[in-house]
Amino acid sequence: MEVLKFGGTSVGSAERMKAVAKLINYPGKKIVVLSAMSGTTDHLVKITQALLKKENNNAAQLIADLEPRYRKTVQELYATEEYKKKGNELITEHFNFLLSFTQDMFTPNEEKTILAEGELMSTALVQFYMEENKVPSVLLPALNFMRIDKEGEPDLAYIEEHLKKELAKYPHTELFITQGYICRNPFGQVDNLKRGGSDYTASLIGAAIYSTEVQIWTDIDGMHNNDPRYVPKTYPIAELSFDEAAELAYFGAKILHPACILPAQKRHIPVRLLNTMQPEAKGTLISDSSQGHDIKAVAAKDNITVIKIKSARMLMAYGFLRSVFEVFERYKTPIDMITTSEVAVSLTIDTTDHIKQIVEELENFGTVDVEPNQTIICIVGDFLAEKHGYSVKIFDAMKDIPIRMISYGGSKNNISVLISGDHKKAALLALNEGVFMKNAVKN
Ligand code: ASP
Ligand code: MG
Repeated sequence: MEVLKFGGTSVGSAERMKAVAKLINYPGKKIVVLSAMSGTTDHLVKITQALLKKENNNAAQLIADLEPRYRKTVQELYATEEYKKKGNELITEHFNFLLSFTQDMFTPNEEKTILAEGELMSTALVQFYMEENKVPSVLLPALNFMRIDKEGEPDLAYIEEHLKKELAKYPHTELFITQGYICRNPFGQVDNLKRGGSDYTASLIGAAIYSTEVQIWTDIDGMHNNDPRYVPKTYPIAELSFDEAAELAYFGAKILHPACILPAQKRHIPVRLLNTMQPEAKGTLISDSSQGHDIKAVAAKDNITVIKIKSARMLMAYGFLRSVFEVFERYKTPIDMITTSEVAVSLTIDTTDHIKQIVEELENFGTVDVEPNQTIICIVGDFLAEKHGYSVKIFDAMKDIPIRMISYGGSKNNISVLISGDHKKAALLALNEGVFMKNAVKN
């Protein structure tokens, strides 16, 4: 069984939904995971914010603003009066449900119920379309099997058990359609896997059923070797290992939610990134195996803050780093990069919610410098024991860029370099010139 996930843009209009319907209509068992129509979840967030502020008229207006797009989609999607009617009834039902929250007291735990509406509508609309076109399919309610635990982490054992039960009800069905993003919490309340979570759903389902492959369909043709917003002529990377993909996803390649591939990775299920607009393009295949030892891609992560702690107490001492890390732990602030010398340690963070308290506590150890607006340039590849002089190539390319920190050797897949945010574009271009263009000439 395969798992195919289509994002918001891929189901963003009747036309796009028809394109998805074509792509999923082939023999073989598959589960199709859909996001909400693009922009819908953002809009639903605004509705919940208005309701939380008790601005019920404003919320009702926002709900009314969302409806025409759904009516238009129904009008354009279905060919027959029968299905236009069915589609309109569905939309009416969902919008009445949304409106019901403006007529009553709104409690914060109803927020997630509202946010679930986008995926519930998009999947039902597409499933009706399959029905209208006589393609047998079943709508699987994600709320019957997707679940997070008390920590907010997906409960794979539960998902596995309940998804299998759902599937067993339809032994002869080949095409299942289900909602991305939405789930229940341990109390059975509607919840979600956080914004962009549909990829996560797909990977979790893939893991739960040991699918042959998880396909993530978006509107770009895979993970690129560099950031196309800053660098001309980037190209999709044909194959990546899970570790390489995770580094790239985390460090800025927006195409994939970083945590989302973990479940698939754990069960060795290949993940393929494909483009709905260009279905014949090969995209990027992410799997256990890595192809070749080379520099494969660079990505940048902005809004990094660097904290430098200088302390004579660090000299020949042990336990010092632990005390430093404990400060960050207390404020639940993840550290991205770290470098140390005998008397100083520099580290970077990207969430500054508690920076004030963190700095105050760190000042107990020594002098603390904080500098915001830094960028991590992450160079990803298979740098097996630095056999081939990759770092020389990288630093040669970046020779005109002032470098603040370097992290190498943490994993064999990543070299991270911290620079000032102002130099980001220049760094990405320089790496393109010095690493990828040279490779291209060589090939
Ligand atoms: N609809 C959700 C969002 O916009 C989930 C997703 O699209 O992945 O965040
Ligand atoms: Mg998305």
